[in-house]
Amino acid sequence: MSKFWSQFVYDLVPYVPGEQPKLTKLIKLNTNENPYGPSPKALAAMHAELSDNLRLYPDPNGDLLKQAVAKHYGIDASKIFLGNGSDEVLAHIFHSLFQHDLPLLFPDISYSFYPVYCGLYGIKFTLVPLDTQFQIRVADYTTPNGGIIFPNPNSPTGCVLALDAVEQILKASPDSVVVVDEAYIDFGGKTAISLADCYPNLLVTQTLSKSRSLAGLRVGLAIGHPDLIRALELVKNSFNSYPLDSLAIAGAAASFKDREYFEKTCQLVIKSRNKMVTQLEGKGFEVLPTAANFIFARHLKYDAAWLVTKLREREVIVRHFKQERIAQFLRISIGTPEQNQALIDALEEL
Ligand SMILES: *Cc1c(COP(=O)(O)O)cnc(C)c1O
Repeated sequence: MSKFWSQFVYDLVPYVPGEQPKLTKLIKLNTNENPYGPSPKALAAMHAELSDNLRLYPDPNGDLLKQAVAKHYGIDASKIFLGNGSDEVLAHIFHSLFQHDLPLLFPDISYSFYPVYCGLYGIKFTLVPLDTQFQIRVADYTTPNGGIIFPNPNSPTGCVLALDAVEQILKASPDSVVVVDEAYIDFGGKTAISLADCYPNLLVTQTLSKSRSLAGLRVGLAIGHPDLIRALELVKNSFNSYPLDSLAIAGAAASFKDREYFEKTCQLVIKSRNKMVTQLEGKGFEVLPTAANFIFARHLKYDAAWLVTKLREREVIVRHFKQERIAQFLRISIGTPEQNQALIDALEEL
C-alpha cells in the first residue's frame, strides 16, 4: 500500500496461478501442462530465430502465425486475433466487448480468471450455477445479459458441451458476445469455429499452452467475426503493439504446421486419461466425465485437502480449489505414463 497508487489498485483481487515449484523432482500434475513437449519443428523454428535479427522489432500483426492458423482451420486471417497467451486475449475481450450495463454471465465453477478481469475492468457479472451433475445448462443462459463466457471443455470440471448446445446459447443471445474459451478443446471436444460464419456474436479463444505444449512461450488467439476482431486490435494497439515476440511467432506458426506431431501427442494424452479414469474409479473416486487433459475427481471416503497434503509428501502435486461446491475435488493433470503411475502408486500407499 502506498499513497502513490492509483485508486483502483487498492481493490484489485488478482488471479492465483497453480504452483510452479523450483524443485524439479516433483511430479507436477497441477497446472494442465502437456507432458510431451513442443513439436521438434517448433523448437527448430525458434532456434532459427536466434540471430542478429533479434535487434529488429517483430511483426506487430504476427502474420506468419495468422496464416498458419488460417490454413489449419480453413478460415480467413481477418478472423484471427493473437495475444501473449490466451489470458491476455481474454483481458482484451473483457475490456473491449464486455463493459455493458447488463451483467456478464459465466458458470459459478469455471476459470477463476474471469471474475478477476471483471474486477480489473469494472464489469458487472452474474454467476450461473452448474447443475447438480456439474454441467452447464443451456436454459440458464437465456436471461438478458451483457455477454456470456464459459470454457469448453469447462475447467476445472473437464466436462464438455456439445456443439448444438453451444449453438443454442448463441441463438438465445444474438445481441451479446458469446465467448467459448477452448483452452482444452483438442483433447476431446468439437471446436465452435465453424459456427463463426453464421453467428457474428461468437468469439472462440484458444491457447498453445495445453495441446501444443508451449505454455512457456505465451501464445493465445481468438477467432470470430472481423468486426469483433477489429475491437480487439484497437485495444491491443492501444496497449502493446508487439505482444508476440519473434520467437513466439516463429515457434507457434511451426507448431500449427506440424499437424502430425500435434495429433499424435493429443492422442497419447487422451489414451492416458482414459486409463487413469478407470484406475481412479477403481480406487473409490467419483470422476466427472472429462474431455480435457485433466481429471476432476472426489474420493468417497478421503478428504481432498488431506489427500493433497499426503500426495505432496510423496512428491506428487495436484490442484485443489477451496471453493465450497468443489472443495472435495482434486484436479489432476495427465502426465507421462510414468508420472500417472506414480500418482496411482502414491494413492495405493495412502
Ligand atoms: C490455461 C487456460 C487459459 C490460459 O491459457 P494461456 O494461453 O496459457 O494464458 C485460458 N482459459 C482456460 C480455461 C485455461 O485453462
